[in-house]
Amino acid sequence: MINFNIPPFTGKEMEYIKDCVENQKICGDGAYTKKCNEWIEKKTGTTKCLLTTSCTHATELAALLADIQPGDEVIMPAYTFVSTADAFVLRGAVPVFVDIRPDTMNIDEKLIEAAITEKTKAIVPVHYAGVACEMDTIMDIAERYHLVVIEDAAQGVMSTYKGKALGTIGDFGAFSFHETKNYSMGEGGALLIRDEKYVEEAEIIREKGTNRSKFYRGQIDKYTWVNYGSSYLPSDMNAAYLYAQLEMAEEINDHRLALWNRYYELLKPLADKGCIELPYIPEGCVHNAHMFYIKTADIEERTAFISFMKEKGIMSVFHYIPLHTAPAGKKFGRFHGQDLFTTKESERLTRLPMSYKLTLDEVDYICEQVKAFYEERN
Ligand SMILES: *Cc1c(COP(=O)(O)O)cnc(C)c1O
Repeated sequence: MINFNIPPFTGKEMEYIKDCVENQKICGDGAYTKKCNEWIEKKTGTTKCLLTTSCTHATELAALLADIQPGDEVIMPAYTFVSTADAFVLRGAVPVFVDIRPDTMNIDEKLIEAAITEKTKAIVPVHYAGVACEMDTIMDIAERYHLVVIEDAAQGVMSTYKGKALGTIGDFGAFSFHETKNYSMGEGGALLIRDEKYVEEAEIIREKGTNRSKFYRGQIDKYTWVNYGSSYLPSDMNAAYLYAQLEMAEEINDHRLALWNRYYELLKPLADKGCIELPYIPEGCVHNAHMFYIKTADIEERTAFISFMKEKGIMSVFHYIPLHTAPAGKKFGRFHGQDLFTTKESERLTRLPMSYKLTLDEVDYICEQVKAFYEERN
């Protein structure tokens, strides 16, 4: 069976975890957490990176820093993971879903302005498949209406928009290092902070509302409870696992891109014949090959495709059920405008295997089977 995902492992993970254990420093904010934060700061150019227990928690932390209050409205796509909405719903805010662009599956930047009301507080662009949203337009709207921008860059580590790393363009950015992402620590994430003014408060909320980070740096002689907070820092053992991959980030990225390009090249003839649609990468966007998907004609064809692939030993999986159609989405949020593409396009999309462990030969085999499916059908 060719798995849809194999968690990334580069070889040094166990050595680094052993190092943590032997140094008797397995709690949060140890040596590996610092190394990861510094690596991300250097690579992305963000002012501050704080490793967190998940991308969900990084987004929650951003919602707290942005002072999201009950009744505030937060604009986001409905074609996303539940965490994008959860972080704001927990604060009592209302997710306002806007339709997506069919070409990138990202929020349609042209529809955002019409969804703004006097209650709107933030925009949350989700960079689907590591391909950037149209950030110039989004940042311009945010500036004119004084809105906070929190980028859900869970899938966007190592991707850029007009030369800027995803997660660094808005006020806040959230990365995921879940096992299904390009770089992993099992469960984990990071908060990227653009503006220095939020850094101290972020450190406090992340450390249970205490000023322990200042204490560790020797800036104060004892630490105390100074604000509300939670525990958003991961164990250094998880950070050790992640650091082994960050050191190999270019190799991982290059390999994934090679797989992605091979998929694209081999499936292009089928797309030219009109059987399937392939992903689109807009001008100015450099992506990280987080995902390779195709779009079938409709949901019936997709169901047949997924079972055909399964028979051939290939795991192909569909993705998000739009949030506004889910029970919690109906309860907590609302859709602004018409759902022209969110539901229709989500029903056509299916993802093909993609991971650092996947080989070019396997991609060749997968593409042969995709062709076989359409030959049988036509
Ligand atoms: C994976 C993912 C998340 C959640 O990440 P966790 O680290 O599991 O919390 C949020 N948003 C998007 C778009 C994702 O793909």
